[in-house]
Amino acid sequence: MFPPRGGGPEGYSALPREPSIRHSRRLDRTWSASLSFAPERPSAEERNPTGASAVIEGVEVSTEHWIGGERIGSSGAFADVSPIDESTVAEVARGTAEDADRAVDAARAATETWGRTSPKERAEVLHRIADVVEERVPELAPVETRDNGSLLRSMRNSVMPRVARNFRFFADQLTELGESFEMNGFESRTEWDPSGVTVVITPWNAPLMLATWRVAPALAAGNSVILKPPEWAPLTASMLADITKDAGLPDGAYNVLQGIGEEAGAALTGHPGVDRIAFTGSIQTGKTVAQAAAANLTPTSLELGGKSPFVAFADADLDAVVEQAVNQFDNAGQVCLAGTRLIVERSMRDAFLERFLEAANGVVQGDPREEATDLGPQITREHLERVDGFVRRAKAEGATVALGGGPNEELGGLYYRPTLFTDVPAGAEVLRKEVFGPVLTLQTFEDEEEAIALANETEYGLAAILYTGDRERAERVAERLVAGTVWVNCFFVRDLRAPFGGARRSGVGREGGVYSFDFYADVKNVCIAPWPQAAER
Ligand code: NAD
Repeated sequence: MFPPRGGGPEGYSALPREPSIRHSRRLDRTWSASLSFAPERPSAEERNPTGASAVIEGVEVSTEHWIGGERIGSSGAFADVSPIDESTVAEVARGTAEDADRAVDAARAATETWGRTSPKERAEVLHRIADVVEERVPELAPVETRDNGSLLRSMRNSVMPRVARNFRFFADQLTELGESFEMNGFESRTEWDPSGVTVVITPWNAPLMLATWRVAPALAAGNSVILKPPEWAPLTASMLADITKDAGLPDGAYNVLQGIGEEAGAALTGHPGVDRIAFTGSIQTGKTVAQAAAANLTPTSLELGGKSPFVAFADADLDAVVEQAVNQFDNAGQVCLAGTRLIVERSMRDAFLERFLEAANGVVQGDPREEATDLGPQITREHLERVDGFVRRAKAEGATVALGGGPNEELGGLYYRPTLFTDVPAGAEVLRKEVFGPVLTLQTFEDEEEAIALANETEYGLAAILYTGDRERAERVAERLVAGTVWVNCFFVRDLRAPFGGARRSGVGREGGVYSFDFYADVKNVCIAPWPQAAER
């Protein structure tokens, strides 16, 4: 049943594969005097002195900001609505420009504590954060599901464990950094200094996983972080504040500014006291963020949208192709990397379509908290209507609905039927624009050249998926696909050492492994003359 993958890729619903790197969970603890280690868990009252919180699936979550190690309210609030039943589950602090200033000041102050720790000390704290995340998966998973409608079983089995792995991976990577070169007796050494205050802005489709993919390397680099979570799913960012506190991270090293993108987000991205901006979201917002950052020349890393091709040659394993094609509906289609443009060799089209429809008709749609559910709701009514707008316009442009084609009227609410279009006219909007819902298109090709041309016919370049039984063809085609990541006969396998990011409009910069430190750190070259001769001159 959907999504029943083998082989250990790391989809929203699949089990993560551990990378083959060293995991040193317990390093020797040598704390600098500036760090106070607080392993005891504070009471709910201590964590949340003003008491603004919501109880979500039995878990109490603070709805205030977390700034400088304190819970702080705002003059206003916004409603956090669950996509499961469109009920308001929390009233959350609505950050202002003054709150943003306060967060930047607190983060700046922590550059004197956290920013002065050794890599070994930081690695230890990051491993402790990972430990506490692992302990709290039973609390984090249901809150995330209630907040953004993703499958509970995915949150529990793969996504929250990946959150922990984000911290462990960068902790380990941190202690392995370092290179030096020798030239005529002169030594040039690379040092990875903290760069200061990092703003992280994230989307709602995998809130904590995507946030920690940026927060963990920024903290590992010795930076202080201000996370502005998505207003549509803001709660697990707040839970992470408690986790970092309990793991002994100094006050101000991790801050959460809740609020609306155009308000709190804009106040942070245009702030002159910010040293790095890591943004994940749509291309449109990415452009706004880049413009704001340019005013202060703040280095910015952009992970943006996708419209990835899923190319299958007739020599591929049809079972695997069908299974993986149906998996592109994962997270109700709200996945940046999804291969939404199915492009199959003409000779296999009919067999593929028949098998695909059979498998897709078996997908169970419903409440994401139920174990049997494969496909949950869209995030908001506005988003569902946006998705439906794409579908209606595709029909008007002459595309054939082979599957779905509208909201799930039996379930009501925000459930949209998994949809497949065939016979889509060349240049149709649904082939060009990111829908970010459970909507796929099917195109066919005659030969390799046509396959590559169709795959690259897009302004996006986040990922590409390629299925073939011919190794040489795999190499040939992969080389010519324009994408930050090309998956051959697999999908969503993520070795965190590998670069990740988008080609073309899908992003600016790469993260993962040492690429993350290139961005978050101030990379410094220390060049030392031959010793002792130079010193004696
Ligand atoms: P979005 O761009 O609407 O919002 C993303 C974040 O930006 C939110 O936290 C929002 O509050 C904030 N924001 C909005 N306006 C802002 C402004 N003016 N200044 C500063 N911040 C602002 O995106 P979304 O709808 O939350 O997420 C879906 C998009 O994210 C899709 O395009 C998807 O492909 C993309 N995405 C990309 C990746 C990746 O790794 N490349 C991962 C997940 C999602």
